[in-house]
Amino acid sequence: MKAAKIMADLEKKYSQEKEYLQAVQEVLESIEEEYNKHPEFEKAKIVERIVIPERIFSFKVVWVDDKGEIQINNGYRVQFNSAIGPYKGGLRFHPSVNLSILKFLGFEQTFKNSLTTLPMGGGKGGSDFDPVGKSDNEVMRFCQAFMLELWRVIGKDTDIPAGDIGVGGREIGFMYGMYKKLAREYNTGVLTGKGQLWGGSLIRPEATGFGALYFTQHMLHKAGKDIKGLKVAISGFGNVAWGACTKATQLGAKVVAISGPDGVISIPEGMNQNMIDFMLDLRATNQNIVAPFAKKFPSESKFIAGKKAWSVKCDVALPCAYQNEVAEADAKELLKNGTWAVAEVSNMGCQPAAIEAFQKAKILFAPGKAVNAGGVATSGLEMTQNAEHISWTAKEVDDRLHSIMESIHNACVEYGTEKNGYINYVKGANIAGFMKVAHAMLDQGVI
Ligand code: GLU
Repeated sequence: MKAAKIMADLEKKYSQEKEYLQAVQEVLESIEEEYNKHPEFEKAKIVERIVIPERIFSFKVVWVDDKGEIQINNGYRVQFNSAIGPYKGGLRFHPSVNLSILKFLGFEQTFKNSLTTLPMGGGKGGSDFDPVGKSDNEVMRFCQAFMLELWRVIGKDTDIPAGDIGVGGREIGFMYGMYKKLAREYNTGVLTGKGQLWGGSLIRPEATGFGALYFTQHMLHKAGKDIKGLKVAISGFGNVAWGACTKATQLGAKVVAISGPDGVISIPEGMNQNMIDFMLDLRATNQNIVAPFAKKFPSESKFIAGKKAWSVKCDVALPCAYQNEVAEADAKELLKNGTWAVAEVSNMGCQPAAIEAFQKAKILFAPGKAVNAGGVATSGLEMTQNAEHISWTAKEVDDRLHSIMESIHNACVEYGTEKNGYINYVKGANIAGFMKVAHAMLDQGVI
């Protein structure tokens, strides 16, 4: 396999799909050497097949807003790869959503799900619907209209959507209600991230953030360090950032920054429980701003308009917001300020030049598909509980999540340790995730 040749072909065909091409390029570059040790992969054209989604559904979503006006959005589901299990992955509601973004996310999801050790294929979906500023009733009507199309292509053994940016417990509730009405069966296994009264798993809301911190802890331990007392900067204030702030604080770290599209909140002494709880209130305002945080905690925090979390001095940086949120200039600022560990929690949160800067400086860096896999892993645990018609205690779920994150970390170390001892977590995660899917595809023939 020649990564450059495959990329050139994809670039010709999908020149508009920047995020998709970026995600594929990163994986191909890191697996090329290992892949070429397997002539059987080459013969079966595994890599040429794995980069293309198995199926894409694209549909129109029409709904009526509170003023009585008709609104039209695009809806999608990308069923990327089903070699190791049914398609599994979230739904994103954000104005930027298009096929490039969903193909990148579905591709990443395939390898992430493979890393979790659970039998889940990769999928992703969503809409360009913007939930910011919408009323509950508008969100409900949109979710119902979206599910009116989606329900035919999902199922507990075929494709299991969940949340992502813009889709949380409220949206999953509205979508599940509509699914149940259309399908006429109480089939909880069809969506994950459900409410705990009707089939949801304990710890699922916290799982992405908790898992990210468990991974970070293992990464620091491997380097002979401990998270206790370290300064942590976190971007975002959504569900993932909230879980990360909660666990980082529990583990004795100081969360010195959170951020939103409007700027950063600097918290020199670190967050306390009241502040962490307030993140949920901030999110619930549906305004997508963090400025009110500094008004609520004026003596302990400061709002700096237009700045990112990376402008605040920290030991560990945890991007928890959006793809490509860390640019090369941000990476340089972090390095200048002495940051020595970056765990990407958002999917593809760092631009390629930023990753290169971290790796060149030989600081610890781990990619999203390993660090944030605790979310989908706990979705997998929710599916198991649904299939068995039981629910586990929070401790049981948390213990399993912890051991899954440890095994993901171990897989990264196994496949990513370079001759000079540096652990290239990007390479490790990509090779470990890829190998399992590639072998499964080989076993299942040309389909
Ligand atoms: N959207 C999350 C992710 O990027 C979770 C997906 C899921 O739980 O299925 O992995």
